Amino acid sequence: MPYAIGVDLGGTNMRAALVDEHGKICAQARKKTPVQEGPEATAQAMALLVNDVRGSEIALGLGIGSPGPLSRSEKMIFQTANLPGFDRFPLGYRLQELTGLNVFLDNDAKCATYGEAIFGRAKGRKNFILLTFGTGVGGGIVVENRMIYGKSDGACEVGHLTLYPEGKLCKCGNRGCMEQYVSATAFKARAFAKCGQELGGKEIFEAFNRGQKWADELMREFTVDLAIATASLVNIFDPELVVFGGGLFTTGGGPLCGWVQASIGDRCFKSSQKGLEIAASTLSGDAGVLGAASLVFRAE
Ligand SMILES: [Zn+2]
Repeated sequence: MPYAIGVDLGGTNMRAALVDEHGKICAQARKKTPVQEGPEATAQAMALLVNDVRGSEIALGLGIGSPGPLSRSEKMIFQTANLPGFDRFPLGYRLQELTGLNVFLDNDAKCATYGEAIFGRAKGRKNFILLTFGTGVGGGIVVENRMIYGKSDGACEVGHLTLYPEGKLCKCGNRGCMEQYVSATAFKARAFAKCGQELGGKEIFEAFNRGQKWADELMREFTVDLAIATASLVNIFDPELVVFGGGLFTTGGGPLCGWVQASIGDRCFKSSQKGLEIAASTLSGDAGVLGAASLVFRAE
């Protein structure tokens, strides 16, 4: 049975998994990302984690999903707010030296998109979009079975689609980016603004289910913003499927799919809405490591 190792590198934690070709996780481990100690210490910690999950199995290679922007061919992160000091550090090559494995590096949201395409909800779909809702909003756009990368691997930064030109300042420098309004972080911030309590996603959905007025208002406003962004993407790419994933959709966000689908309404062409499905990820919290491992299987 061929195995691949996937690593999901985040600013807080890193997680590694040994994955078989059917997407079954056979071993996994996680540890804190030693960001403060710098990129070399992080590379060495990652190599230890990889060797932990590899055990005595023979792996075809190692896939790393990382925040970007990054270069796949140079296997390096250009710059990222979550991993200070990593600018132009050749993470992929360093891991090749440390583990002896062939290493593939790609953007974390694009990895999650491959995970959905190979093991998840988008299996067999030629045209689909993944939106992943966490601290920010990540994206992957697949057209005729091919991910869109652009000239510098920078495409699919869906979270920075402008929703409100005079809106909130985003860390990218623009104003009113979608992720300022519909990320999991924004969802919780909206709840705090309405009820004055710091609640988790699950608790917010529970308040909605109990019929709390503020939660009902929140869901309506959130759905409209998400529908505006989704409708723009549907008009441009005419996908057969939009998958919503990430933290927000593992904590009770499933009903949002149907609400967004109903709210797209007049916001985009009827012909593009026909046959369009909007659904939650089936990979839940595993999309990152499965997607990173799938970089290896795709290359085989
Ligand atoms: Zn932005």
